[in-house]
Amino acid sequence: MLTIDLAAIQSNWLKLQSIGTGAKVAGVIKANAYGLGADQVGNALYTVGCREFFFASIDEALAARGFLPPDTIIYVLGGIRAGDESLLIESNLIPVLCSLSAVNRWAKANTNFGSNASSAIKINTGMTRFGLDVREFELLCSDKTLLLATHPVLLMSHLACADERDHPLNLHQLNLFSNCAQLMLPLLPNLRFSLANSSGIFLGDKWHFDLLRPGAALYGINPVPNTPNPMLPVVHLSLPIVQVRKLEAEAAIGYCSSVALPEGAFVAVVAGGYADGLHRTVGLQAEGYLNGQLVKTVGRMSMDSTMFDISALGVLGDQLLGQSIEVINSSLSLEYLSKKNNSLGYEILTSLGARYQREYLAGAYHV
Ligand SMILES: *Cc1c(COP(=O)(O)O)cnc(C)c1O
Repeated sequence: MLTIDLAAIQSNWLKLQSIGTGAKVAGVIKANAYGLGADQVGNALYTVGCREFFFASIDEALAARGFLPPDTIIYVLGGIRAGDESLLIESNLIPVLCSLSAVNRWAKANTNFGSNASSAIKINTGMTRFGLDVREFELLCSDKTLLLATHPVLLMSHLACADERDHPLNLHQLNLFSNCAQLMLPLLPNLRFSLANSSGIFLGDKWHFDLLRPGAALYGINPVPNTPNPMLPVVHLSLPIVQVRKLEAEAAIGYCSSVALPEGAFVAVVAGGYADGLHRTVGLQAEGYLNGQLVKTVGRMSMDSTMFDISALGVLGDQLLGQSIEVINSSLSLEYLSKKNNSLGYEILTSLGARYQREYLAGAYHV
């Protein structure tokens, strides 16, 4: 059972809003809200006041138009393909323009359709992924006709190392971004600015500008690694036991007989394997809690099932059927698991497979 606590997500959003004095807080719910369900998460956030949402692709954003209330502002982060302009305009989606060619296409589409559809403009200040380089940005600022036809409402950039508080790039990116903001503001007095992702919010007010763009922190990932997590945990995963066996003699466990257990050992087979993303979630040698006791996996993980050595619990037969082994909980936190498995909280969440039975704990706030 994958339990997703919508009330915790709402509390996390409200907490970020209290930190970001003055700035609005958006919700980054790309990749199906990091695997947790963009519909459920988006609506829970809407209920507490979130009105701006970021998606990665036009397909995600179009789907969201079907489940988010019509007054939400939807941004598409991942660049736009040539030809998608009319669809974006019709569906009232704001593209994040990441290159001069995209800027030109958007301006041209607005001219052709007689529209003044908004855009966001992204600058590369050091991440070197999406965005206009500063020189291209300056070029755009020098072409007022082009700029006005593009109708920018938001200027943004993305921090590359915000989760390392003392990384010099944080200040460097802030300075570059501020300079760009100064250059564009006189041309577009209503323009808003956005720099911080989850970790960026915790770097300090200077990084906040008008709009914060948290994803990870909403979902309980620690935005300030190696210090106490200020966010509430959101995800709990437990795997149902589908078979329990007692070994009558020493026996090898699982594919390739890589591990053996002695006579008298107890093995619990749980539903959940690498097809559920479990190898990314808990790692290949996983731990879990059964009746409050720590147990470990044994042998290789299979596609649909995984074995745990539960000998430490003593003689427990079929009474365990229907019970579950917890693999993400308050002891086995996202931070603990990602460190242990050399992965990221982001990877753990986005690897949570579609086959888990999902339970959403209702938001504490209702419309
Ligand atoms: C994914 C993303 C975010 C959210 O980042 P988190 O670290 O999850 O808070 C913010 N801005 C951009 C541009 C992104 O791509």
